[in-house]
Amino acid sequence: MTILKVTVLSGGVGGARFTRGLLSLLGHRGQVTVIANTGDDMWLHGVRVCPDLDTLMYTLGGAVHEEQGWGRRDESSRTSDDLAAYGLGWEWFTLGDLDLATHLARTALLREGLPLSQVTARLAERWSPGVTLLPMTDDEVETHVVVADGQEMQEMHFEEWWVRHRAALPAVRFVQTNLATAAPAPGVLAAIADADVVVVPPSNPVVSVGTILAIPGIRDALRTTSAPVVGVSPVIGGAPVRGMADACLTAIGVETSAVAVARHYGRRPDGVLDAWLVDDRDADAAETLRSEGWLAGAAPTLMTDVPTTARIAADALALVGALP
Ligand code: GDP
Ligand code: CA
Repeated sequence: MTILKVTVLSGGVGGARFTRGLLSLLGHRGQVTVIANTGDDMWLHGVRVCPDLDTLMYTLGGAVHEEQGWGRRDESSRTSDDLAAYGLGWEWFTLGDLDLATHLARTALLREGLPLSQVTARLAERWSPGVTLLPMTDDEVETHVVVADGQEMQEMHFEEWWVRHRAALPAVRFVQTNLATAAPAPGVLAAIADADVVVVPPSNPVVSVGTILAIPGIRDALRTTSAPVVGVSPVIGGAPVRGMADACLTAIGVETSAVAVARHYGRRPDGVLDAWLVDDRDADAAETLRSEGWLAGAAPTLMTDVPTTARIAADALALVGALP
């Protein structure tokens, strides 16, 4: 049996759901590495919170709050409520009690001096996610949003803009802190170079995948890997399926359409993709891209359940002839 090595560049909910389907499709025929966005990470109440890593860990480990898409199922918020009674924290960002245990464990290990990649591996041992889970970088790179507040410019953490303001404040630009000195985490570049296929799942193209691509070295690794790179559109019928990714696209001047997101990623060798799977409602987008030389296909891409998502993963791999 040949083993297909698949590397996925993931944000939180979209990337995690896709990866769960991919694992269901491949079973023992696949060896999957996930490179996760850590631009949403932040210090809160003195603990390090890594939303996308945790969504991946909980989703792939069978512990996620399924309807919500992130956080633990059977969660409570007694600790957060009690902290609020001290007037501490941000009332708009609840840390669940069980989730808090993850952050405490992570912070304890970071305080012992372990890099985030090793801490992530330690935490993942408990959940057996079935993938090698890598943060994009061990460095503290955070996505901030510059918003126009009247005549003034204001910079805030991405999560504050996203969760507190529901992305309603017009974003002027996104900034990644510490980017110039950041390096890919150990194993990240090799996972791209040595893969049989690289997948960009339906994750936020700006603040999830875009942030991963901004880490020095990662974009070049995608351009030069011998593996085909296939993406799945996070935009269906001109709208993001869940969340407010359109606000992020608008801020960087990209239209919210399956074609525009593909062109934004670009085709190799200048861009990072070889192929793009769009929803069957956007079949004309696939047609347009094919006329521009892309490998493009159209199929249902709504990740309603695991078998349906496995089918989406199969369609993506088939586009680049990588379906085992
Ligand atoms: P986040 O970090 O939790 O925001 O998650 P991601 O960045 O991984 O993914 C969020 C994006 O996934 C959203 O902006 C949606 O556009 C996309 N998405 C979510 N669910 C689906 C789905 O069922 N199908 C498709 N095609 N895209 C989806
Ligand atoms: Ca995220």
